[in-house]
Amino acid sequence: MNFHVLTLFPEMISQGLQTSILGRALERGTIRLSAVNIRDYTTNKHKKVDDYPYGGGAGMLMQAQPVYDAWKAVSEQIRREKVGSGNVRVIYVTPQGKTFHQAMAKELAMEEDLIFLCGHYEGIDERVVEEIATDLVSIGDYVLTGGELPVMVMIDAISRMVPGVLGNEESGRNESFGNYLLEYPQYTRPEIWHEKKVPEILLSGDHKKVDDWRLEESLARTRKVRPELYEKWAEENQEYFIRKAKKEARARKKEAKRMRSGNE
Ligand code: SAM
Repeated sequence: MNFHVLTLFPEMISQGLQTSILGRALERGTIRLSAVNIRDYTTNKHKKVDDYPYGGGAGMLMQAQPVYDAWKAVSEQIRREKVGSGNVRVIYVTPQGKTFHQAMAKELAMEEDLIFLCGHYEGIDERVVEEIATDLVSIGDYVLTGGELPVMVMIDAISRMVPGVLGNEESGRNESFGNYLLEYPQYTRPEIWHEKKVPEILLSGDHKKVDDWRLEESLARTRKVRPELYEKWAEENQEYFIRKAKKEARARKKEAKRMRSGNE
């Protein structure tokens, strides 16, 4: 998968994604990253990329021309390398976009190429955003100084969904948000730390019981912290509640029988 980032601070992008799991994926070529400096596409001799907003107001705005020319150069290069490829999606990261989430990361990971556009200062001239952006995405309801961190957040989350990036494919599937649920608590050595013992069931070797316990923990955690996600899971997993009700009814019956035979 190929990430192309249009930015005024390319070193921030290339340095920020070079370590650990993503660094290894870049080395192997499972993902590829190019950070393109929008400033290289200015046509004025001072390489100025911003100007005052019409109508007044605080701060500066990135101008349309260098952004457009940088996008055009990258799009043409992609088209040259991949004859017959369609238009590549262009994601403008902005607090005014749809909020990024795991399902979006999964969907974007199916693209072969993605172009990201980072704003800075007070943002970008609306006309070029209208002309080139296919998706407007926010990473949350707060305002950052630039789009570089949001793009890194998105590239990290998307890359984890690209086959071959994570060593163990399972870890991408079982963790938080994979099926609306937050992940269950996890423990590693030692068995006792600060007088806290690892839950007995995890040492039992009984995989079925471990799976059941983990599901119950995930459900309890999600219900408490993110009730809206719990509701979505519950809607799609009605059979879980039917199974649970049947199991509880069986246990009640067994207990009643035990009590009766104890009384006789
Ligand atoms: N004036 C803009 C507004 O109120 O919507 C905010 C501009 S912000 C200071 C500069 C740039 O940072 C934006 O163009 C965008 O690329 C990026 N940015 C800031 N916060 C973001 C967020 N929560 N999600 C995605 N991008 C963000």
